[in-house]
Amino acid sequence: MIELKNVTKTYGLTKALKDVSFKIEKGEIIGFVGPNGAGKSTAMKIITTYTAPTSGTATVGGYDVLENPYEVRKILGYLPETVPLYYDMLVYDYLEFVGEARHLNGQLKSRLGWVVEACHLESVLHRQIGVLSKGFKQRVCLAQALIHDPDILILDEPTSGLDPLQIIGIRNLIKDLAHEKTIMVSTHILQEVASIADRILVINEGRIVAVDTYDALRAKIGADKIIYLDVNVDKATLKSSLNAIKGIEQLEFLSATDHSQIRVRIHYRSESVPSELDQMIKTQNWPLNEFHKEGLSLEETFIRLISQGKEVQEKAVEGGNA
Ligand code: ADP
Ligand code: MG
Repeated sequence: MIELKNVTKTYGLTKALKDVSFKIEKGEIIGFVGPNGAGKSTAMKIITTYTAPTSGTATVGGYDVLENPYEVRKILGYLPETVPLYYDMLVYDYLEFVGEARHLNGQLKSRLGWVVEACHLESVLHRQIGVLSKGFKQRVCLAQALIHDPDILILDEPTSGLDPLQIIGIRNLIKDLAHEKTIMVSTHILQEVASIADRILVINEGRIVAVDTYDALRAKIGADKIIYLDVNVDKATLKSSLNAIKGIEQLEFLSATDHSQIRVRIHYRSESVPSELDQMIKTQNWPLNEFHKEGLSLEETFIRLISQGKEVQEKAVEGGNA
């Protein structure tokens, strides 16, 4: 449905996209995730024909964005990063205006009714857009993107600046649309799309660094399990003892001192590590304050994802920042 092949985009000296290729199938929900400045909006502007690639090709529904921009615009709905609303217009008038610009003609009334219901705008239909809350403004903008019933939806950070309840509202709306449309939704917060996306496309510094289901990505990069250990022992002793255990991938020291109470997060792969560690602590008779297993947090998963390729090698056993 959407395909980018070797797309680059430069703005003066800035390379916003570097050799980006990906393919989105019909009916998929894609989470497009990356930190600020990664190139998300640029890629979306290329897909929606609002900016041209410097090199490479982009097609949407089989249409090339440069050769057939009007065909592309017909089949997609776009929620840009900055909401393009006319603040002095009433919600209803604005949506009617957009529908007319989309040449909905005889279908205008029924489409209007549908988007108003889908985006829960009944209560604000006759209010001025400018006085609405941010959440309602965002929904008006979504309604604008949906009014012509496009097959494809490109949503650029639809939840940014919204409160948690509003975020859930937008997420549910995306879920409701999921069965019928191909949806690409960008965010700098992995958590916001983890539960709704079929696949996650991770972008960093203009390059696609990972594409997979959320579970597969997590399994790939967060394959380590973690033990949190808080023990009263000298750091050097602890370190050399831990180095003797096979299957430990990384030590992350959290304590400020090198003596007495040492806190460390132990990343490991091998299932035998916890029992070996337990055995060692007992044999050495180290006073133990805490010993528990934990998983990688969403943030950690995200940071691993975006630094993937660069830092995978840094997992050798090493001392932390203490
Ligand atoms: P994201 O949406 O992931 O935050 P953007 O696509 O907006 O990232 O930006 C990618 C890079 O391109 C950034 O370094 C940004 O500063 C730069 N950039 C984006 N738009 C322009 C522009 N119109 N002119 C110059 N640089 C731009
Ligand atoms: Mg952006």
